[in-house]
Amino acid sequence: MLQPIYDEILGRNPGEAEFHQATRELLDSLGPVVARHPEYTDAGIIRRICEPERQIIFRVPWVDDAGQVQLNRGFRVEFNSTLGPYKGGLRFHPSVYLGIVKFLGFEQIFKNALTGMPIGGGKGGSDFDPKGRSDAEIMRFCQSFMTELYRHIGEYTDVPAGDIGVGGREIGYLFGQYKRITNRYESGVLTGKGISWGGSLVRTEATGYGTVYFANEILKNAGDSFDGKSVVVSGSGNVAIHAAEKVAALGGRVIACSDSSGYVVDEAGIDLDLLKEVKEVRRERISAYAEARGGSARFVTDGAVWDVPCDIALPCATQNELDEKHAVALVGNGCAVVAEGANMPCTPDAVRVFADAGVTFAPGKAANAGGVATSALEMQQNASRDSWSFAHTEERLEQIMIGIHARCLETADAYGAPGNYAAGANIGGFIKVADAMLALGVI
Ligand code: GLU
Repeated sequence: MLQPIYDEILGRNPGEAEFHQATRELLDSLGPVVARHPEYTDAGIIRRICEPERQIIFRVPWVDDAGQVQLNRGFRVEFNSTLGPYKGGLRFHPSVYLGIVKFLGFEQIFKNALTGMPIGGGKGGSDFDPKGRSDAEIMRFCQSFMTELYRHIGEYTDVPAGDIGVGGREIGYLFGQYKRITNRYESGVLTGKGISWGGSLVRTEATGYGTVYFANEILKNAGDSFDGKSVVVSGSGNVAIHAAEKVAALGGRVIACSDSSGYVVDEAGIDLDLLKEVKEVRRERISAYAEARGGSARFVTDGAVWDVPCDIALPCATQNELDEKHAVALVGNGCAVVAEGANMPCTPDAVRVFADAGVTFAPGKAANAGGVATSALEMQQNASRDSWSFAHTEERLEQIMIGIHARCLETADAYGAPGNYAAGANIGGFIKVADAMLALGVI
């Protein structure tokens, strides 16, 4: 029954492999929903939900430090505004094209719905490569990007934030240019802002912390905990670093992490202060961590970080980074829980290997929702011109993650897939948006 819808998606969106993958993953879960709710089909909900409300593509010209004109392409896909303003990050990475932005925007619809916060789904970015660029070049690029984007966003319309390649520095330059062009101090137009100019405490830590809170709920549900567990985290950016920090706080030991050049194994447990210094201050490759740490750490370029034996795996780097052979290696080494800190890091074949082996798998749209949920808390603080303490904000984040975990399990149970977090997240997120779309009519 859903095959014709998938065929329509393929025909309408040629060459967008990641978008096809993300829609297929959702459609694969919706069989029992369609059977129980003919009203969704009658109102064309699934077909409409797979078509973005608006897609914006624009030229981003800028001048580099050598005085040369550079050219990039900018995107903002405003996917679904049923539950609130479009909400989702901006990614600056050379791999960005429309298919990546659409997959991310699509995931964001259901992730944001699962948080229970009033936010729609969207995503944007550019094929700009920030690697090796000076601060001044980053600023000029961000200013040019915002010179077009500003006309499409607003606190009631579309609220971007960061993603890969976009952190506090970039949000600062983007916000500065928005403020200058519009002559409005509209704090709620972007999230991930600095603390002194409208940001929220915990936003930086939120995606990584949230993923670990989610994994912790999985463990608690099985009468277990992080205490004494060995954990492998992929990536070494914002999500990976803060996931590792929370694992350590809960008594686990993160023994490996990676970047695109290779991975480090540190049996003594990753030294997070050193990792932050290498990646966030010096902005160097991860081999610099092993060099500085000496003794207990080694840098490896063969194979993948998933070859390191662990109890729990947290893929926190990027899409499709963990494939079938990596999943087989993890299963063979006794890994029992996989929670996605990144968006769609596990390929469909890898997810199948986990399911067959009885490994508990938590999909990103549930397990990494803590970042965007805390963005929604930042919007709340901006709207009330207030700022909350770290402890209060973190408590809200933890409660949201506990809520998402419960919703996934309850929904999976109710639709005949007990213990299946992917089905629970897909169905739970979908139904929330679908019911609201029904109420709003054919728009
Ligand atoms: N880029 C993050 C995500 O994938 C956060 C988006 C946001 O805070 O709006 O969910």
